[in-house]
Order: sequence, then C-alpha cells, then structure tokens
Amino acid sequence: MRKTYWILLLIPVIFFALLQASADVHPTVIVAGDENYPPYEFVDKNGAYKGFNIDVMKALSDELGVRVEIRPMPWQDALEALEAGKVDAIQGMTRSASREEKFSFTNALLQNAQVIFVRQGTDNIVELHDLKGSTIAIQSGDISEELVERIPEVQVIIYSNQEQAIRALLDGTVDAFVGNRLTGLYILQSLKQFDKIKIVGEPLYITEYCAATQKGNEVLLGLLNTGLGKLKQNGEYDRIYNKWFGETVTDRSILWKKLIIIVNSILVVVIIVISMVFYWNRSLKKIVDSRTSELAAVNQELYRQQERLEQSSRLRGKILESILDGIIAFSTEGEVLGANHAAKELLQIDKEESLTIESFKADSSFIYEGCLQAIQGSVWKKSLIWEKGSKGTINIECSIYPIKGPEEKVEGIIIVLHDYTERKLLNEAKEYDKLKTEFFANMSHEFRTPLSVILAAAQLLELKARGGTQQDIKDGIAKSITSIKQNVNRLSRLVNNIIDITKADTGFLQLQQKNQNIVSIIEDATMSVAALIENKGINIEFDTDVEEKMMACDAEKIERVILNLLSNSVKFTQKGGSIFVRIQDGEKHIRISVRDTGIGIPKDKQGLIFDRFRQVDKSISRVSEGSGIGLSLVKSLVELHGGSISVESTYGKGSVFEILLPVILLEDVDDKHVTEMLNTKKAEIEFSDIYF
Ligand code: ADP
Repeated sequence: MRKTYWILLLIPVIFFALLQASADVHPTVIVAGDENYPPYEFVDKNGAYKGFNIDVMKALSDELGVRVEIRPMPWQDALEALEAGKVDAIQGMTRSASREEKFSFTNALLQNAQVIFVRQGTDNIVELHDLKGSTIAIQSGDISEELVERIPEVQVIIYSNQEQAIRALLDGTVDAFVGNRLTGLYILQSLKQFDKIKIVGEPLYITEYCAATQKGNEVLLGLLNTGLGKLKQNGEYDRIYNKWFGETVTDRSILWKKLIIIVNSILVVVIIVISMVFYWNRSLKKIVDSRTSELAAVNQELYRQQERLEQSSRLRGKILESILDGIIAFSTEGEVLGANHAAKELLQIDKEESLTIESFKADSSFIYEGCLQAIQGSVWKKSLIWEKGSKGTINIECSIYPIKGPEEKVEGIIIVLHDYTERKLLNEAKEYDKLKTEFFANMSHEFRTPLSVILAAAQLLELKARGGTQQDIKDGIAKSITSIKQNVNRLSRLVNNIIDITKADTGFLQLQQKNQNIVSIIEDATMSVAALIENKGINIEFDTDVEEKMMACDAEKIERVILNLLSNSVKFTQKGGSIFVRIQDGEKHIRISVRDTGIGIPKDKQGLIFDRFRQVDKSISRVSEGSGIGLSLVKSLVELHGGSISVESTYGKGSVFEILLPVILLEDVDDKHVTEMLNTKKAEIEFSDIYF
C-alpha cells in the first residue's frame, strides 16, 4: 500500500519534469515589434498591442505549440534589441541588402511598397528626383532612409513612427513623406485626413516584408518558415491578411493614374486607329479616284460603242426593211426573233409576235420541215407556189439557213422568202416573144415552101407548053397539078390553123354541135388517113367498144382533132411502126386515144407541147414540117367540147394522146350524115405537110 502511494506521488512529479523538459526544448521566443506601425503592429488607445504581425505571430505560436512573447517598442529600439540579442526576432521587417548583412529573414509575409505621400494640390512632385531641395519626412530605421540618401539637397526629418511623419506632412512641416504605402493609408484613414493627402508616382521600392531573426539563427528561422507554410496551407494566413488588408482604403490617385493610363492608351490606340483609317481612307480614295477615272474612260468607250451598235442596228433595221425579200429569224425553240416588212406582207400578218415555227405546220408544212432541217444545221431551199388572195398566185423561192454560233452550234435560223413571180412572168414574156419570132420565121418557111413548089410546077408547065411532045405535056401537067394541089392544101391547112387559133384566142371559135355518132366520125377520119399513108409502111388500127355513140359534137372539129393527132403520129413514127386509134365508152365520158410507136416525147417537154408555137426540138420536128400550133389548136377544140386532153409518152418508145369528152345530148334532130368526100379532102389538107 505504501508502495502504491509512492507511485501515485511520483506520476505528477514525472509529468511535471517531462513538461519542464519539453519547455526547455522550445523555450519562449521573444519577438519585438514597432509600437506604432499600423496596420502591421501598433498599440491602440486602450494600450492593446495589435495588428497583422501580432495575429500572425499568435497563429504561429498556436500552430507550432511554442510560446511567443511579443514586445512593442520604438522601431529603432527593436532593431537594436535584435542586434544585441535581447530579443529572438522582429515580427515584421522590410528586407533589404544592407539589412541582410545583420539579420536573417523568413519567407515573405507579404509584398510591401514604399511610396511618396504629398498634400493635395502639390503638382511639382511626381517621382523621387522631384524631392530635390524639399523637406521630407521618414520613419526612423525605415527602409525609406536608403531611398532618400540618393536625393541631393534634400532635408530629411526623421520621426520615430509613421503617424508623426504623416502629421508633419499634414501640418506643412514637410513637403513629402516617404514611407510604407499600406501603413500610410491606414494612418490617413484613421486620422480621417485621407482627402488632404495623395500618393504620387510609381511604387518606389517593392520589397518583401518578412520576420527577421539574428544572423545565423537557422533553428528559429526554420521553425518560423515551417509555421508560416502551415498557416498558408490551412487558410489561417488568408484570414489574417483579409482581416487587416482586405478592406484597405482604395488608393484613388493610383486608380486615377491607372485610369488615365488606360484612357491614354485607349486614346493612343484610337488615334493610331483613326490615323490608320484616315491613311487607309486616303489611299482607298486615291485608288477609288483612279478606278473612277478608269471607269469613266471605259464608260465613255462603252457609250461610244453602244452608240455605234445602235447606229449599226438602226442601219441594219433599215436595210432589212428596204430589202424586197422577206426575212424572218427564229430561235431554235421556235420563237420569232424578228421579221421584216416584206416577210409580214408575204405571210399576210400584221405583227410578227404571233409567229412561231409551229405556225407553219398547218398551212405550209414544207416550210415547217425546212425549219426543222435548218435547226439540225443544214441549208434548205425550195421553190413554192402560193395562192395569196387578191395577189393571186405567187412564186416563192424559200431558203432556210441555220445561224451558227461558236463551235458550229445552231443558235437560230433565218428564213428568206424571195418572190420571183415578176421575174418569172418577165421570163415567160421573153420566152413567148422568142417563140413568136420563131413562129413567124417558121410560118414564113411554111408559106414559102409550098409557094416555091407551086411556082416550080407553074414554070415546069410553061416549059412543057413551049416545046415538048404531046405526051410530055400531058405528063408534065399531071405531075404539076398533083404538086400544085398538095401545096395548095398545105397552104390551106396553114391558113385554116392560123385562122382557127386566132379565133380561139379571141373567143370567136364556135362549135356547130349536133347529136351524132362520134364513133363513125373518128372511124372515118382514121380510115381516110389509112388510105393516105398506105405507102408509108406504117400500120394503122382502129378499135372501139361501141359501134355507135350518139352525142353532141361538132363533127368537123372532131375530125380536125383526130386528123391532127394522126398527122403527128405519122410524122414521128418510122417505117414499120404502128398507130392505134381506140374508143372506150363510159357512162358520162367517152375516151378517145391515139397511140403510136414513134420517137416519143421527152418527159420535161410533155407539159409544153400543148403551148402555142411549141415544138419539142427543132432538129427533130424539122424531119417533118410543122408550125407548132397543131396541138394547141387541138387542145382548144377539145376544151370547147368541155373535154380534156393529156399525153403519156416514153421517149424513144412512143406516145399516147388521150381525149376525154363528156357525153351530152342536145334536144335536137340527129344527123348522121357526114360525107366521105369531105373527110378525104380534110385528111389531104391535114396531111398536106407530109410528103408521101
Ligand atoms: P406541129 O404543127 O409543128 O406538128 P404540134 O403542135 O402539132 O406542132 O406539135 C408540137 C410538137 O409536139 C411537135 O413539133 C413535136 O415535136 C411534138 N409531137 C406532137 N405529137 C407527137 C408524137 N405523136 N410523137 C412525137 N412528138 C410529137
């Protein structure tokens, strides 16, 4: 029990001893601080020592578990105390090279700056050099001492703390105060004199504000740095900093200065930009001016060209309008691009707008086809005959051309309509004139030949009458009479033909129609010819469907038609050839055909042989005599009977002339009597230009 008592007594003794031992490891750290350096450290009205440094030291003490004793004193005393080793540290000191020779510094508590304070209204002090010749206040032992040393002719008044120095500035004792910026502002605010003082120039000396130990006290230095690091990590440092500096009075002069700098910078930038814009504008204006004058020149040239174009277009329009040919232009889509006056007249339209290629489809399909061909790129030409109302029939030569652009691409077509009716009529008139001249030359020949023969016969008769035997005279007379008769017949035929054709031309050729058997008229005429050409070696045949066909006709004229056709067939058929006369009966018409195996008529001449004075070929026709009015007269006679005549012929093989007569009966007495004698005589007359 006694033993337990001793043990219980020993435990507090040991605990106390251990506590004592630990207190020996971390002895109390004595820290000095300025007694009037707010807000870092200062003794307030109530005698409490407080400030940023005091709070940091207390927090460090708590963090490190080290007792810290903080002693406020005048700043100079604090410096001397640390130097003399009377204190272990100074809680806050601005770091400088000269101080580093005497003390060791912890990591920075914060960044500090020294500035120049002047009274409001002071304009001549802006930077350190401006302090030359003036009286300035500084705090004893402050880093500002080092700064003002370099200023010549300056009178420095040293105060033991910054408040005294600022008061000296306020009451005009000094011209400026050089000291810690934050402390200065703090004091001014607390004195409520902020409006009277301003800070000028840039911060003079940006330094680190640290705790300081005796030179070489690495243990304490390490301890303080470790603690400081922890305070920064756990946010305690920030809390203390905000407590003392977070609501720092705004340094309006610096703000103004910054504002001025910003405004100035903006102004400079604006001026530069304006100058650049102005310069750019000027160079742009120059470019625009030169472009404008270039454009004006180009414009003028364009205007000139446009005028020339308009002039040439007007001229082209005039030319197009004055051209007698119709000209129409179409796009490949078939829309009209333009048409001249002549075209509109020919097409009988007022306005060209309505015109399209399609519009030709109904009336003039051939032009439509031509347009399609031209759109495909080929030229199309054709002669056309148009019925144009009051203008009658006109002859048009239509040419359609493709309008080709670059690379031969068809961009449109042009239709040219050339009216050659007048030219054709003129040519026809010329041709007719030529034919007439030929006819008269031919007529003279036709007249002269039989006259010469008759004259020759008369001379022979005269010769025989003067001296010759009785028999001679007899023979001569017989020969001459035959010759004279034939040539008189020939002359008579010629004269008859001329009279009849003239009558037909003037409308005096009239028919003496009677109801009579046309079959016998044609048969008799054929037979009379057969008798005449017996010795010519040409076979002649007659064939009919009906023996009798009563109808109204002029027997004499029908005979002349048949004799004329037969005389041509005989003229143009060689020895050994044949002639066929055929009658086909129809209900309304009777068909009479005269076919031969003669030389035939070329295709291109078949349409002409019924024209007046026309002979196919002089050289051929001359084989036999002829005036070229036979077929023309035949046509007139057939047409007088209300009929028609046509020819079909193969050149070199023979020809067929076909007559179609309408079967009409007159309410008259039939007359079947046609004298044979008359027929034979007529055949002799019609065949009088054929020499047997
Ligand atoms: P012509 O009095 O000169 O015979 P036509 O008017 O009777 O005149 O005939 C005109 C022309 O037609 C003739 O010159 C001849 O060239 C041609 N012709 C007429 N009939 C025939 C025929 N049967 N065979 C060949 N040619 C013919």
